[in-house]
Amino acid sequence: MNFPSKLIEDAVNEISRLPGIGKKTALRLALHLLKHKESVSEDLANAIISLRKDIKYCISCHNISDLEICSICSGNRRDKHIICVVEDIPDVLAIENTSQYNGLYHVLSGVISPIQGIGPDELNIESLIERIRNPTSSDKVEEVILALPATMEGDTTSFYITRKLKELQVKVSTIARGIPVGGELEYTDEVTLGRSILTRVNYSAD
Ligand code: ZN
Repeated sequence: MNFPSKLIEDAVNEISRLPGIGKKTALRLALHLLKHKESVSEDLANAIISLRKDIKYCISCHNISDLEICSICSGNRRDKHIICVVEDIPDVLAIENTSQYNGLYHVLSGVISPIQGIGPDELNIESLIERIRNPTSSDKVEEVILALPATMEGDTTSFYITRKLKELQVKVSTIARGIPVGGELEYTDEVTLGRSILTRVNYSAD
């Protein structure tokens, strides 16, 4: 791609380093910024700089936070007896958006992947064990929900954590895997369908 200006070229190169943004989209965004007031670009630049400089990670659950302890961990209405273990921050947001879960989280920041050289020590697993072994408040953790991806890496991680938790006498569960809402049985892959049969739940007509 040829650019009429080195400034545009630099901007396009930087913007296109973001995931899901190609050179064409980056150019469109750069030209968009040029068309609008200078303050729009300044606000965007300042927001990005503050994000990198000032963002904190909750010292308890490793979720993104403005304070040392995130609003979920410090919330009085949260059930502190349950911890939901997720791979990364977008998973917390996804589960929060369901409004179906009221417990706490623990963000691993990845899953075990020997191919990518990610072992248990690279992840926030030890801090999870520690949270359960030595709760900071009087709230003893009674259940750990493993909400990890349905991949080999996710399963390996779930297995590893379950083994680590064995001696701590805490209930361990995993999120159900099954047919998506609106999904047809005949188009569901056989592993998912098989698991849905094995992990069937009681059905009530009430
Ligand atoms: Zn937290």
